[in-house]
Amino acid sequence: MMLMPPFNLHHPKTVEEACELAATFLANKESFDWVAGGTDLLPNYKWHINVKTHVISLANIPGLDTISMHEIGAMARLGALTTSENVHPLIAFAASKVASSLVRNNATLGGNICLDTRCFWINQSEDWRRSIDWCHKEDCGTGSDCRVIPNQNTLCVATYQGDLAPSLMVLEGTIHIIGPNGPRSLPVDEFFQLDGITRNVLQEGEFVLKVTFPEDVANRTGSYKKLRVRESWDFPEAGVASSWISGDPSSLRVASTALESIPRLHQEEVDALGTSFSKEHIPQLSEAIMKSIKPVNNTALPPRYRKSMVRVLAKRSLREILGD
Ligand SMILES: Cc1cc2nc3c(=O)[nH]c(=O)nc-3n(C[C@H](O)[C@H](O)[C@H](O)COP(=O)(O)OP(=O)(O)OC[C@H]3O[C@@H](n4cnc5c(N)ncnc54)[C@H](O)[C@@H]3O)c2cc1C
Ligand code: SF4
Repeated sequence: MMLMPPFNLHHPKTVEEACELAATFLANKESFDWVAGGTDLLPNYKWHINVKTHVISLANIPGLDTISMHEIGAMARLGALTTSENVHPLIAFAASKVASSLVRNNATLGGNICLDTRCFWINQSEDWRRSIDWCHKEDCGTGSDCRVIPNQNTLCVATYQGDLAPSLMVLEGTIHIIGPNGPRSLPVDEFFQLDGITRNVLQEGEFVLKVTFPEDVANRTGSYKKLRVRESWDFPEAGVASSWISGDPSSLRVASTALESIPRLHQEEVDALGTSFSKEHIPQLSEAIMKSIKPVNNTALPPRYRKSMVRVLAKRSLREILGD
């Protein structure tokens, strides 16, 4: 049975109130999660995965749902992004590829960025997880090993399967964060942290406010290609986004998702092309990106297949931005 476990739900009405609540829980050593649309957190809670005593909802804080070419608030609903004429078309397209329309009506940008990592050893019922004596990500005090990379319980390699991150990266987004110690900002590609448990650089009590984009973002042509089992609503098994300002090779950006614990910007592979980018460079760049990726066996499709599909998705995405 998947009954929702009890927790205390809090509804701050301002960013300051949310930070104060977080500071109080931290001072009292009480555990809490943020919730936005709840389309990821609440299913995990129903499966009794890492349930916290308190949940702080961001839904009643006004001003967090901005949608414009240069700024998207953390509480902007993905459904609204797909139909907006004010966002970059790449964001609208990537958002339209997330789950189903029912899920997108509640799902938010912030929740998509901060999505928990997934692994078929943990996204299971509580009884199933107990039957294998848990795993490192939720060891229930048993000190269990990781089931994917055995004989160790220091690293979780669960897969990040958010759709929007690579598009935010290739559009050179900046993420804005706030918490009890004040605000800070960093490039989206520096936000993620290579561990399936910590996931990102958010410190305790911090949450995402918004993502902003450079002045010239509207000049960028973008493309996102997604591999999934069923077109109807599945999480990505691999995803590649690319963008550039036509005619300017130095503006080329390529990023991937759903292959490792973090989405990745492939700047090293792009820089290796030198100062040019044309149709002839696509096979070399796609191959280099594929080689840089190391998927593990913890999602629906085999890692070798997902890795080989990176080359295909990269080729398709790069061809599209070249108008080929
Ligand atoms: C059937 C189904 C299919 C799905 N398919 C896809 C898919 O194809 N692609 C995809 O990308 N996702 C998919 N999802 C996952 C999810 O629906 C989306 O990623 C969604 O965007 C999450 O947003 P949310 O607001 O509902 O997040 P929530 O569930 O509210 O939160 C998700 C996580 O982010 C944290 N969080 C939320 N907002 C903030 C914030 N502002 N600051 C800090 N932390 C925050 C929460 O604490 C939680 O850990 C699917 C979900 C379901 C149920
Ligand atoms: S990668 Fe390992 S530790 Fe992480 S959820 Fe999967 S089995 Fe558990």
